[in-house]
Amino acid sequence: MLNIIIFGAPGSGKGTQSTFLVERYKLGHLSTGDMLRAAIAQQTPAGMQAKAFMDKGQLVPDETVIELITNELDKQSQAAGFIFDGFPRTLAQAQKLDKMLAERGTPVNLLLNLDVDEDVLVARLLNRGKIGNRSDDRDENVIRERIAVFEKNTLPLLEYYQKQGKLCNIKGVGEPSEISKQIRQTVASQLK
Ligand code: AMP
Repeated sequence: MLNIIIFGAPGSGKGTQSTFLVERYKLGHLSTGDMLRAAIAQQTPAGMQAKAFMDKGQLVPDETVIELITNELDKQSQAAGFIFDGFPRTLAQAQKLDKMLAERGTPVNLLLNLDVDEDVLVARLLNRGKIGNRSDDRDENVIRERIAVFEKNTLPLLEYYQKQGKLCNIKGVGEPSEISKQIRQTVASQLK
C-alpha cells in the first residue's frame, strides 16, 4: 500500500494536487473537508454539529473526523492506498491515524508539505470564494481564522512527521502542473 498525506494551509492546493495523486497512483482520496460538507448536505447529526465549527473557521472535534475517516477506511478496504487530504490536522488525529493504519498492517509512507505564503493563500481563497460555493471562502475574517488555526494546531505536525523521516517540502507556488511534476519526482525518490 501507498499512503500519502497531502499537507498545507487552506488554499495551498491540497485538493488540486490530490486529484493528480489519485490519478497517477490509483489511490483512494480521503478528504475530511469533503466528508464533512457531504454530512452537512445530508443533514446528519455529525454534519449539523460540524457546521457551527466550519462556519467560524475552527476545527471540528477530533472524534467526529476520526469516525468519518475510520468508516471510509473500512469502506475502501480494497484500495491500493490513500491520499489523506486535510487530515490529520491535530496531533491526536496524527497519532490515531498511525494506530488505525498499523491495525491494517500499513504505515504513512510520506507527507507532502505544500508551502505557500499567507498573502497568496488569502488571495487564492477569496478568489475561490467568488467562483465556488464554499461559504467559508467568502469572508476574509473566516479565512484568516482558518490560517491562524492551521498555524497553531496543524503546523506543529510537521515535526512529528519529520522525526519519522517522512516529511517532504514542496514549494506550492506556480503552475499546478509544475507542482505536480515536483511531487512526482519527490514521491519517486522517496519510494526508491
Ligand atoms: P477543508 O475542506 O480541508 O479546507 O476543511 C474545511 C473545514 O472543515 C475546516 O476549516 C474545518 O472546520 C473542517 N475540517 C476539515 N478537516 C478537518 C480535520 N481533519 N479536523 C478538524 N476539522 C476539519
